Amino acid sequence: MQDIRWKAFWLLVSWSFCCLIVGWVTNAEIAGLVYFGGLLAYLAGHIYWIHRLYQWASKPGLNFIPNGKGVWEDIFANLYHEMRRHSRSQSQLSSTLERLRHATSALPDCVVVLNHRNEIEWFNEPAVQRLGLKRHHDENQPIYYLLRQAEFVDYLHSENYSEPLKLKSPRNPEMTLELQIIPFASKQRLLICRDISAIEKTDIMRRDFIANVSHELRTPLTVIGGFLETISDMQGEISEDIQPYFDMMQAQTTRMRRIIEDLLTLSRLESNATLKDEMDITMQPLLHQLLKDANALSQGQHTIALHVDTETNLRGSYNELFSAMSNLTSNAVRYTPPQGKIDIFWQRQGDEVVFSVQDTGIGIEAQHLPRLTERFYRVDSGRSRDTGGTGLGLSIVKHILHHHQAGLQVESESGKGSRFSIVFPASRVLAA
Ligand code: ADP
Repeated sequence: MQDIRWKAFWLLVSWSFCCLIVGWVTNAEIAGLVYFGGLLAYLAGHIYWIHRLYQWASKPGLNFIPNGKGVWEDIFANLYHEMRRHSRSQSQLSSTLERLRHATSALPDCVVVLNHRNEIEWFNEPAVQRLGLKRHHDENQPIYYLLRQAEFVDYLHSENYSEPLKLKSPRNPEMTLELQIIPFASKQRLLICRDISAIEKTDIMRRDFIANVSHELRTPLTVIGGFLETISDMQGEISEDIQPYFDMMQAQTTRMRRIIEDLLTLSRLESNATLKDEMDITMQPLLHQLLKDANALSQGQHTIALHVDTETNLRGSYNELFSAMSNLTSNAVRYTPPQGKIDIFWQRQGDEVVFSVQDTGIGIEAQHLPRLTERFYRVDSGRSRDTGGTGLGLSIVKHILHHHQAGLQVESESGKGSRFSIVFPASRVLAA
């Protein structure tokens, strides 16, 4: 640009100088005429090249850039180089984009790109097969016109995509899909879905197997338990040496029966993804029943208090919630030595409501906390067994809370006590 300016400047200076010489040789009028004539020709030349530039700009193309003359030669040469650079980076970009599209198309998972209005911008081949999307027909259509299942529409509008959603394929009801929405760029979303039919099948087989085994064991155990009871009732007929063995057999049979009942409860909870017996629950009687049961279990060995700080009630399954809450209170009694203190709280926390049980018991070391809700995970298996535990209580609690979209929080310190809290979301809270 600097060069072009100097070129134009020196041209004008040289022309002015030439005209001065002409004026000196002839006269000032002729020199003036020659000077302005030259300027006019110079201007006409510029107008001509501006016109050529305008013509080119209305239909730009790398091969149609004029060659130009004088300063315009440099201008068009610069333009040509810029255009070449631009077209090279554009072709690089489109080949990268093409490669990306090929890679996404080769993915076994469905990928659908949605815009801020949830309209389909692009999708790969698996989305055609699994979600039933039609190429050249469904682009620009809102995704909820094509995937109409209520769970999906709720999930899409929930704006909470931390957990994936399980859904039956609209094309094949035998196929189970796992969908997840990932927001990207400013307001765009990526809908990813994968076929989890095989995992789902294995899961159902595992669940059915546990349920069937538990069910099959129930009958022989009831028979053995019945006979043991009959024999231990025959006082005087059994020698005192054998009596302790009968007691032990009875205790173990009761324990096995409890494990089987808990396993059956777990598989029932697992196979029902949603709540069946949802109702409005008045919390006061439920909380007082919990207190009564905890006192019965403690047999006066602990100080148990109930603190009801809110009139708030809940929407959910009475049986499931009672079972989850009584699991926490019975754990507090079982893991708190005699003379300990147990407090049961029912409190409001903003839009949420919290049920918590605090004890002054043995507590739990921090490294065990993340694993407490695993099946059969016990910190101290001896103590768990001695107090009639099955190792499945908190696992049952976790499933029940999942049904109610609630969360479990555990704070504990070894030797000092624990606080187990259930946090219910605003959607479960009933207006007072
Ligand atoms: P269990 O039937 O063994 O009590 P749970 O699933 O109810 O099984 O609890 C898992 C483990 O968590 C227990 O074995 C125990 O070690 C620990 N635990 C649960 N509640 C408490 C508590 N209030 N205080 C101390 N430890 C607890």
